[in-house]
Amino acid sequence: MKPIMPQENIFAFDQLPYTALEGAISAQTLSFHHGKHLKTYVDNMNKMLPDSGLQGLSLQDVVRQSTGALRNNAGQVLNHVMYFEQFCTGGRSMSSKMESLLVRDFGSVEAFKTEFEQKGTSLFGSGWVWLSVDENGRLVITQEKDAANPVQKGLSPLLTFDVWEHAYYLDFQNRRADYLKAMWAVVDWNVVESRL
Ligand code: MN
Repeated sequence: MKPIMPQENIFAFDQLPYTALEGAISAQTLSFHHGKHLKTYVDNMNKMLPDSGLQGLSLQDVVRQSTGALRNNAGQVLNHVMYFEQFCTGGRSMSSKMESLLVRDFGSVEAFKTEFEQKGTSLFGSGWVWLSVDENGRLVITQEKDAANPVQKGLSPLLTFDVWEHAYYLDFQNRRADYLKAMWAVVDWNVVESRL
């Protein structure tokens, strides 16, 4: 995955209007999630970066090397940038190469989705469920608490669903499992595979 630079305009959302994912996620949820929650993480990160000694590094390296409040905010910036980038109206289907990788490591695409949803649903509290590549090139699903990102474990992240309540509560209330199931319809697998 290419390094992402922590620049001021990182939360620009020009490619995806807030109505783009309706049917899965409402414009109201996206406007709060992107325009308020992510903006706050970006603003906090940009306040702390100049005194951190980590300015000029990629977002991934800032997340790997920082601690405390900077790591929490930079982690949430990286998580959300990857989350918002990977969706498009109506979704885009996966290639046969991606399908064969999922079949190799999970048995079937359906088995992969079931495990991904189950791990998203069973994550206690706030966090993220991720599909990543490990150091041996195998696909793995991990649960990451709060602002954590798989890069902190040496994994290479591909796909994520946000399971903080702010990601789904306006649309699905407490039904996290329904939110996770709905999100498959808007995944842009071209973007996911570009991270391989
Ligand atoms: Mn979020």
